[in-house]
Amino acid sequence: MNRISHWIDGQIVAGTSGRTSAVWNPATGEQQAELALATAEEVDKAVAVAKAAFPEWRATNLSRRAEVMFHLRELISANRKEIASLLSAEHGKVLSDALGEVARGLENVEFACGIPNLMKGGYSEQASTGVDVYSIKQPLGVVAGITPFNFPAMVPMWMFANALACGNTFILKPSEKDPSVSLFLAELLTQAGLPDGCFNVVHGDKVAVDRLLAHPDVSAISFVGSTPIAKYIYETGTRNGKRVQALGGAKNHMLVLPDADLDMAADAAVSAAYGSAGERCMAISVVLAIDSVADALVKKIEERIPAIKVGPASEPDNEMGPLITGEHRDKVAGYIDGAAGEGATVVVDGRDNAPGGGFFLNPSLIDYAKPGMKVYDDEIFGPVLTVTRVKSYAEGLQLINENLYGNGTAIFTRDGGVARQFEFDVQVGMVGINVPIPVPVSYYSFGGWKASLFGDQHMYGPDGINFFTRTKVVTSRWPDPATSAVDLGFPQNR
Ligand code: NAD
Repeated sequence: MNRISHWIDGQIVAGTSGRTSAVWNPATGEQQAELALATAEEVDKAVAVAKAAFPEWRATNLSRRAEVMFHLRELISANRKEIASLLSAEHGKVLSDALGEVARGLENVEFACGIPNLMKGGYSEQASTGVDVYSIKQPLGVVAGITPFNFPAMVPMWMFANALACGNTFILKPSEKDPSVSLFLAELLTQAGLPDGCFNVVHGDKVAVDRLLAHPDVSAISFVGSTPIAKYIYETGTRNGKRVQALGGAKNHMLVLPDADLDMAADAAVSAAYGSAGERCMAISVVLAIDSVADALVKKIEERIPAIKVGPASEPDNEMGPLITGEHRDKVAGYIDGAAGEGATVVVDGRDNAPGGGFFLNPSLIDYAKPGMKVYDDEIFGPVLTVTRVKSYAEGLQLINENLYGNGTAIFTRDGGVARQFEFDVQVGMVGINVPIPVPVSYYSFGGWKASLFGDQHMYGPDGINFFTRTKVVTSRWPDPATSAVDLGFPQNR
């Protein structure tokens, strides 16, 4: 059995805990590797290494740090197919989707190539007579990233590209379900010229996470995962004096108005609901259809479902792969059963004719879902799209704003005025106008509202730079004996 271990101080380090977890091949349902789970002492070792590497990396000049990012950009680009196949072998997503993930992750490395510009502070000459004031951004020290299974390449890149470029050293605790990409990226970082110890990967579960949350030498934690864990990470980390950003789950609604192009809306709903088997935090899981177009829209979505090719990533034509584990597949399937019992209508049941062997489920479509039903309220995180019928734009908006989550949303309409009003009123962090998956480009920042984000700073982009730096303000005067005098008054400018 293939064993997967940690990456500490520029090399693979075998785990010593004796505790392991299984890494599955979701397309076959077979175990393909055994992952070492770290002890608290192993986490301490990684933190000590990162702490020792920090002073030199922090002092490395900006051009040199940018150069490492430029080299990394080239290496990831040259290895994009290998990274994509590595991640789809453990995650199950099809190759085209995996390549898209790598490309969107790479954008963040490209953004970090601009670090000399991004680290600029401000300068005010002559703030007082002979006195200048300026602000500088400095790295925090050792920072950690804890990432989910659904984007094993992109989400780590959201975090470590900016963190390292800012001069921090980094500990990554990837998802235990698809851990191999993180080690491949560690090797590429070394090849790019990052000194040993600046980037470390510690595999593990709650034991490793809890040690990172408690370790006095970890200054900040960037987390992406489900809402209950995000809340726990935020509360525990901040209680321990750390800076924390913790992104959580989602239930993204797409509001379709009667004037929308219904074919375009149906294409978008199908793509955004079933892409990556619905295991995306920006997946559309609820379509809000205004009554007058609801029947037509449901029909158009239903018609498109049989054409979706479900199967393993090894077949290049497939469009949707399996779910991450057998347990998760069964949980998602349980919602289809539950929906009928709750009074919703199962239009397409994804349990019918799902490919055998792996953790497959076909796309499901459920109509007449309502708040209060589990199928509507819960984040299902699978290929299950529900439709809720609403009387008006106002009712649709109210449902979105009353939802626990506020990650992404979309409106489909031809009316620019209504779209603008929606953008103004909606209580959600990322909004699409005729765009179903509005993941911001890397020079904006990614983050939801409400239970989708705990913390103040969004992920990557300008917020990422803010998160991984702290500001120092210097007030400076060059001595001029001609203006020197004893003055016990409070310094003032007028
Ligand atoms: P998860 O919360 O189960 O795991 C995320 C990370 O936390 C993993 O590294 C895991 O090892 C660790 N973890 C799990 N349980 C823990 C515990 N009890 N104590 C400490 N650490 C623990 O999430 P997942 O299943 O890997 O990913 C899917 C979830 O992530 C979904 O809810 C999805 O919406 C969310 N997600 C959100 C975003 C976003 O940007 N908001 C992006 C991707 C995924």
